[in-house]
Amino acid sequence: MEVRFWGTRGSMAKPGPTTLRYGGNTSCVEVRGDDGTLIVLDCGTGAHGLGQALTSSGAPHCNGHLLITHTHWDHIQGFPFFAPLFVAGNTWDIYAPGAIGQQLERTLAGQMEYNYFPVTLAQLGATIRFHNLVEGRFGVGGVHVTTQYLNHPVLALGYRLQSGGKVLVYSADHEPHAPNPAARSAGEPAKHDEDLRHVEFLADADLVIHDAQYTVEEYPGKVGWGHTPAEWAVDYAVAARVRRLALFHHDPLRDDGALDRLVETCRRRASAAGSTLQVFGAAEGGEITLLEGDATAPAAARLPEPAPNTGPHTILVADDDPVMVRLLTLALEQDGFRVVTASDGKTALRLARLERPALILLDWEMPGADGMEVTRTLRAEADPVLRDVPLVLITAQSGAENTAAGFAAGVTDYLTKPFRPAHVRARVQAWLLRRRSESPHGT
Ligand SMILES: [Zn+2]
Ligand SMILES: [Zn+2]
Repeated sequence: MEVRFWGTRGSMAKPGPTTLRYGGNTSCVEVRGDDGTLIVLDCGTGAHGLGQALTSSGAPHCNGHLLITHTHWDHIQGFPFFAPLFVAGNTWDIYAPGAIGQQLERTLAGQMEYNYFPVTLAQLGATIRFHNLVEGRFGVGGVHVTTQYLNHPVLALGYRLQSGGKVLVYSADHEPHAPNPAARSAGEPAKHDEDLRHVEFLADADLVIHDAQYTVEEYPGKVGWGHTPAEWAVDYAVAARVRRLALFHHDPLRDDGALDRLVETCRRRASAAGSTLQVFGAAEGGEITLLEGDATAPAAARLPEPAPNTGPHTILVADDDPVMVRLLTLALEQDGFRVVTASDGKTALRLARLERPALILLDWEMPGADGMEVTRTLRAEADPVLRDVPLVLITAQSGAENTAAGFAAGVTDYLTKPFRPAHVRARVQAWLLRRRSESPHGT
């Protein structure tokens, strides 16, 4: 596999004298599989340079696969400027997470509406095929692709690519799940089930390109923004036995000198943990070749499982704080969900049996029966819908012990206060879609 960075910056483009070495363009990475399959990871402003290089290469046609992690501006703003899409005869497959009630084609067309851009999506010359993804596995050309949800304020997927026995993981925008991961010492594995799942997703990769927007020092002011401090990207990579880690999605305020220092800090952190992990800062124009390892069979070109676009779903919210209930109801109704509410555990149980909701959000501490008690009761019900429903506990600042006990009792995940409505909406989508995609595919 060959990898080339065309955009490494997070949030917004930041060209200028202070970002010359690491680059100012937003997320875009070119990957070539061993069989020549062209994969483009994200379509930030870096895609402009890549598009120019592809169309001036002299080849009559340029076909490829564009894998988008999520549709925040810094990952799609290069899309209307990506030259191969304008050429008739080219074919591009475009993949992104498909949220319930909101499909990729509509979102990409939105940023090309008349008021924003002079050419509409429908006027692009290339043949474009859209794929709304959920978690799962599929093949593009000879490359195996595995997807997994990241933790971000909008539904986002990470991509694990395997070609010629080598593995690359692209995890562009992701925030650790543990409410207080600062308590971890360097290199110690994470304690939250979702963080362990993330480590598993990165496991034994030859190269991980990971969100490293903040430092641990900056992080307390950025909780809930959906990004990883660079030092914790190292912790993830060390726990996952990764060979090389590219710090990526650099903060627009981090100049070249500050990035050099952050890379040095991260190298020391990896060494202190006794790891041989190689850490570097992803730099625009940088190229890496992952030489063929143990041969694996090339992937059969297999289409991804499409994201379901059904609904409306009913969601049960149980919390004795009326402000919290109102906040969650408003956030969920924006995505078309029907919300039923309870203010105590006993009512929550009664409503769960009556409504059989698609998802339940429960406050940990409620009068009557607390969130844990409601969870245990529902997991023991005869009705399979209630035994399997995603159950999310709302906590203030759960310690690791409580979190582990909850997971053991059948809690699906946690929502930790304070949280932002955007984050709730993204997590709800992931909980619902993961649950629906799990059973038939076992991913
Ligand atoms: Zn981003
Ligand atoms: Zn983002």
